[in-house]
Amino acid sequence: MKKTLPLRAGIDMGGTGTRIVLLDGAREVASDTVPTAWFSTLSQPLRARALVNKLGDLLPAGYALASLGIGASGPVNNQTGIIENSDTLACFSFFPLVAQLRDMLAVPVAIDNDAVVAALGEYHLGAGRGSQRMLMVTLGTGIGVALLDKGEPLRGSDGKHPEAGHIAISGDPISCYCGLTGCWEMLASRGALQQALARELPDLQWNADTAAMLVESAIARPRVAEILTRYGESVGRGLTTLLTLYGPDLTVLSGSAAALLPLFKNGLDAALTRASGYAVNSNITQSSLGDAAGALGAAILPTLRETRQL
Ligand SMILES: [Zn+2]
Repeated sequence: MKKTLPLRAGIDMGGTGTRIVLLDGAREVASDTVPTAWFSTLSQPLRARALVNKLGDLLPAGYALASLGIGASGPVNNQTGIIENSDTLACFSFFPLVAQLRDMLAVPVAIDNDAVVAALGEYHLGAGRGSQRMLMVTLGTGIGVALLDKGEPLRGSDGKHPEAGHIAISGDPISCYCGLTGCWEMLASRGALQQALARELPDLQWNADTAAMLVESAIARPRVAEILTRYGESVGRGLTTLLTLYGPDLTVLSGSAAALLPLFKNGLDAALTRASGYAVNSNITQSSLGDAAGALGAAILPTLRETRQL
């Protein structure tokens, strides 16, 4: 009988897309992204089965699944493995998804918050290698934040991942679903930038060409450049709080807006400028794994737990 080779699977569940990767060692051998809304069209008991089927479809001949790691957007209860995000990931929340997947797949299944697994991906496989204390900020549909101290994620006393994308940064009266007004996510997520640009660029669609298109627009239209600078200031206002509190040696920016860093760096630098003696470490870099960081980090999560590196 032919020997089967083990692959590690990772699933990154976001509000918009659910990305699945398969790793042979640290090498990606297959990936797929499914709109998360598609899972909402299935009744709840069928959603774990649908994930198992997607994994089966991706698995190349001659390989078997060794483990599965999941990164889920928003709060995850690390004791029960249950996702508690009725705001942006309702279709996978408040039922024992991990236990169901473990039963169906008969392999180790681990779960954590998506910002944590993306940070683990960058720390072990990407831009964060060599950092002692790495802050990762994901600027996507929302804002995700994770801090790794020597590879160990910072958690609250309840074991949960601190939702540090939701901190008050201004007196803006806009209220966030988290309950705050002037919340960082409402003002500095990629979604917020898109909204700010909507009047100038009504046809803006977010895709792989957006950054290049915005460079041209920013050169040709001072108003677009100004919006991007103001966006950088908003990113910086939240970031200066986190840098002051956490003191990382490296900050990795990821998410779809991170590619625009050269366009909003002026505003960001201005917001991070402090008096001497209060200066923050502004060693900020872009993610090297891009959108794949979450799924790749999720794929190595069960190994990190088994080898007690987490
Ligand atoms: Zn909020």
